Amino acid sequence: MTPPRPHLPIRPLWLCRACAAPWPCATARLTLRHEHTHDRVALLVYLGGQLHDAADELYRLNPHDGPEPRQLFDRFLGWALIRGTGSSPPPPGAGVPDNSPAGDRACCVPNPATNEDQTR
Ligand SMILES: [Zn+2]
Repeated sequence: MTPPRPHLPIRPLWLCRACAAPWPCATARLTLRHEHTHDRVALLVYLGGQLHDAADELYRLNPHDGPEPRQLFDRFLGWALIRGTGSSPPPPGAGVPDNSPAGDRACCVPNPATNEDQTR
């Protein structure tokens, strides 16, 4: 019995050598996330390097009809920037400040009433 193939890219095509999906495939993303559970910065630095190499090689391979920069960014880095376990995307509107009158200052200016309560 042969061991399972690791989900690594075939370069310069940047397809997974195990499942032939665009790399990083779902399994590669899970593996990378697991390997970098406690070092998110290292994961992003690694993926940034892969993105740089992939952009260079994919555009060289197909200079007139290469992938859009935004597509490459989402494929290589976008998924890793989402906080949490990655099991589900954030709900719509998450992280967007509300439009209530206090909303504008609540993010950066401490609320005096709240501070007063904390000191007691
Ligand atoms: Zn794969």
